[in-house]
Amino acid sequence: MRTAIAVKTYLTARLKQVFEQSRSDAFHGIFSLMRTATTYSLNARFVFPIDRPPIRDGWITVSDGRIDTIGNRPVGERHELGNVAILPAFVNAHTHLEFSNLDQPLGRSGMRFTDWIREVVRWRREASDRNSGIDWRYDAIRCGIAESLRCGTAMFGEIATLPRSEGDGRYDAMQGVCFLELLGLADERHDELLAAAKTHLATSRSGGAALSLGLSPHAPYTVSQRLVESVASLAARDRVPVAMHLAETQEELELLRSGSGPFQELLAELGAWHANVIPQGSTPLDYLKILAKAHRSLIVHGNYLTREEIEFAGQQRDRMSVIYCPRTHAYFDHERYPLHQMIRCGVNVALGTDSRASNPDLNMLNEFRFAAQQHEDIPLATILRLATINGALALGVERSHGTLAPEKRADLVVIPVAEDDPNDPHELLLATTGHIRMLFRNGQQVFPEIN
Ligand SMILES: [Zn+2]
Repeated sequence: MRTAIAVKTYLTARLKQVFEQSRSDAFHGIFSLMRTATTYSLNARFVFPIDRPPIRDGWITVSDGRIDTIGNRPVGERHELGNVAILPAFVNAHTHLEFSNLDQPLGRSGMRFTDWIREVVRWRREASDRNSGIDWRYDAIRCGIAESLRCGTAMFGEIATLPRSEGDGRYDAMQGVCFLELLGLADERHDELLAAAKTHLATSRSGGAALSLGLSPHAPYTVSQRLVESVASLAARDRVPVAMHLAETQEELELLRSGSGPFQELLAELGAWHANVIPQGSTPLDYLKILAKAHRSLIVHGNYLTREEIEFAGQQRDRMSVIYCPRTHAYFDHERYPLHQMIRCGVNVALGTDSRASNPDLNMLNEFRFAAQQHEDIPLATILRLATINGALALGVERSHGTLAPEKRADLVVIPVAEDDPNDPHELLLATTGHIRMLFRNGQQVFPEIN
């Protein structure tokens, strides 16, 4: 067991104390100054640039919202933050924020995935009935963004069920990629879904720079292979990313192979089964080959990818990523995630929380810590890359996010850490409470809010 986990109980109490101190007036006063300074430097016990080893007693200088220098010397206004770590803000590569007002996941841990989908369908119907005339999604999305900011996430790979329209405001506070979810297995739905995809992308040309748009043919059991082909071509033409759930369950593989099993039963029950749209004998590799034609693709989950499929994804690493959602993976009691194999094959694996329908929170620090516990054979520095630079690569924002380097955006998270001094400073991140102290975007403090 990693040593830092063993002392977690003590540290949790200690860190709660530290976190509370951070709310003091004096502390607040110091950071109010930073709001007005164009150049300032922050000092931390450890700065984690991600693309190189942690810097002890490090300084990071921010100028006009961008990182200027990283090292051991300050420039401009100086702020010593004490016993903290400074990291690039987290990238959450897979969310469905429309579920963010759930208090707890739907269903129960270990349940069959198709039964969980029945719960999701029921919950969605009830939410629509309860809120007739009001779009219940808006509140949930805003809650999810606010929760994520409090937990140090600055970039999202978000799946939305409604096309974005001018001035709809849902994602005003979000940076990242908003993927439109496309659902409908019937071949007759093809033209209508493709039209919705084009409408969604049309708003990107006039939208803000902080949010870009993408497309998400939901999964092999909810869209036809022909639609996935068309979406990949459109994405290549418009140079936008595509996200698709793939190889998530063994039942999905059974459906692709034989057109039967729990998914076929579920779809028939929902009146959504169409026998001829999934060619029998299909495999996730068929979908990977189609998605590889897109400008950039995110393979969500990939829990049951074969060695050949993992190797294929590794060969496309510049344009194809696999998104691992550790706590959602555990919720459904899947077989061990092939993370080691993926990393060995060069796959760009990024972390996501998935939604609150299968995860208790949207906290990427918790996701990192859980992944570290599940994969003790993988260095912590590697797992931290999954939550930062690999997510940035997946979303195509690696030039501005994911590492602390000159010219990158000053999107930073400040995390209180314990007093001890492990050989590997990354262990300090395992022993936190999951609370962060501060989040900066473009060099501006956004959490805690300054009144
Ligand atoms: Zn998902």
